Amino acid sequence: MLLLLKILFLRINFENYIYIITTMDSQNTEYYMLEALVQAKKAWKVDEVPIGAIIVKDNKIIARAHNQLICNTDPSGHAEIIAIREAAKNIGNYRLVGCDMYVTLEPCLMCLGAIFNSRIANLSFGAYDLKTGVCESILMLGENNYLNHHCKIKGGILEEESKYLLGKFFEAKRQKKTAT
Ligand code: ZN
Repeated sequence: MLLLLKILFLRINFENYIYIITTMDSQNTEYYMLEALVQAKKAWKVDEVPIGAIIVKDNKIIARAHNQLICNTDPSGHAEIIAIREAAKNIGNYRLVGCDMYVTLEPCLMCLGAIFNSRIANLSFGAYDLKTGVCESILMLGENNYLNHHCKIKGGILEEESKYLLGKFFEAKRQKKTAT
């Protein structure tokens, strides 16, 4: 039921927005990515680039975050970094062993470094970032064995939905700029 409500919420806010959800299983990758997308929308509401991340341990969400670079005047305020800090605080451990991250956009170099250092087990991301994504797009660090990490990475989860949000955000920004 919770999942259905969230789909409706997203559709109300964006015309022509079609959601494809396969199951309502709370252990489903799409289910968690949808939670990350809800965070991405929160970023948009405060005029930040709409990127959201969540961290899951034992099928429970232990951290939710969205981009807060401008709000916090923080160049490291990416959703992934904030989520990692929150998750570590919540479990009382600087190593996020047995934790999985779901983020709406392919992580940048800074975030992937933090993901590896935090020992996150599985990383799922939505859209590919052809400008700064280092899992598969501009670098393939997910497959680099020189880096001592054990993180499994999977991209393209609800990719269209993540891309749609980002696309609409920047479109609105451009329109605002032309109008002024
Ligand atoms: Zn980043």
